[in-house]
Amino acid sequence: MTRMANDYNAINLSQGFPDFNCSEELLERVAYYQSKGFNQYAPMPGVLNLRKKISEKIEKIYGRKYNHESEIVITAGATQALYTAITAVVSPGDEVIILEPAYDSYAPAVLINGGVPIYIPLTKKDYSIDWDAVERTITNKTRLIIFNSPHNPTGSVISENDLSTLGKLVRNKNIYVISDEVYEHIIFDDKKHFSFSQSFELSERTFVISSFGKTYHTTGWKVGYCAAPEKLMNEFTKVHQFIVFAVNTPIQHAYADIMENEELYLGLNNFYQQKRDFMVSLLSKSRFKFKPAQGTYFQLLDYSTISDLNDREFSEYLTKEIGVAVIPLSPFYSDGSQDKIIRICFAKNNEVLNAASEKLCRV
Ligand code: PMP
Repeated sequence: MTRMANDYNAINLSQGFPDFNCSEELLERVAYYQSKGFNQYAPMPGVLNLRKKISEKIEKIYGRKYNHESEIVITAGATQALYTAITAVVSPGDEVIILEPAYDSYAPAVLINGGVPIYIPLTKKDYSIDWDAVERTITNKTRLIIFNSPHNPTGSVISENDLSTLGKLVRNKNIYVISDEVYEHIIFDDKKHFSFSQSFELSERTFVISSFGKTYHTTGWKVGYCAAPEKLMNEFTKVHQFIVFAVNTPIQHAYADIMENEELYLGLNNFYQQKRDFMVSLLSKSRFKFKPAQGTYFQLLDYSTISDLNDREFSEYLTKEIGVAVIPLSPFYSDGSQDKIIRICFAKNNEVLNAASEKLCRV
């Protein structure tokens, strides 16, 4: 869709990345470490100071202490952390539960490892988790369940209740969990992000994965991390070593410094809440139907009362004829499920959001 946006000179609300720059302070820190010669391989699990900072941050905001020497690894984006964690625990024939719509890297990573993805749809009403369906789907072959909150593409978030329900379902079972928390600092309306690291019971079997790209407006730098108990991390590291070995050194040092400024991540909710509210108020005058996203920088729009086109055709129409590139929802489903819904990304300057909304209101 980004290519089509460029070809047709459309405003690009398709792919999820900000169109504004990261902080000057962060750029200055990267330049500093590059000029001081921090340009060779980092230690395999990551720069020690960055792992320390991550450990301190998780303990402070979620109350779980991960040992920075043995329970935190810096990765080439969350994508590599996801792939590595899946590879570490999934063997041929193992079943992996994926809730749909789902981020597109989960299933291919399962399949490449010979695993069998078992898809469960989120509820149509509000994209919450259908726990009865999860309970019915767990078998003695279930090895892993993958969660993502705040959720791309739907913007839904899990509750404390979800965590305790899951805790009961997996108790005494040999099931691992991946919690993809890359949007942990983008959650709205005074809601709280519930990290799986907060649950003592679940954190013992969970790979918690996050990404600096989302938090610091640096998606192109591809640096993320995984936090997990030592016995899980030992397996993770065996795979990590031969996929990437180590990640960009000066950028790791720079992130370690910038993490001291808590305001940069604690203030992100407000920053994106203003953008969500702005977009929602502009689009309330359009013919699209929607519920405001509870988190992430994505908003779903229902066009079922506007057009009979399928979501790919409708997305192409918006890009080519209306001048706004969006993403169809069906590719987030393994069976291409059609609900006449598209996704837009509002991590854009307000002028861009304004111009895009004006066009969308003409549809
Ligand atoms: N998980 C989700 C839910 C995402 O939306 C993304 C980025 N689009 C990622 C993981 C990957 O993050 P990264 O760019 O750090 O690899």
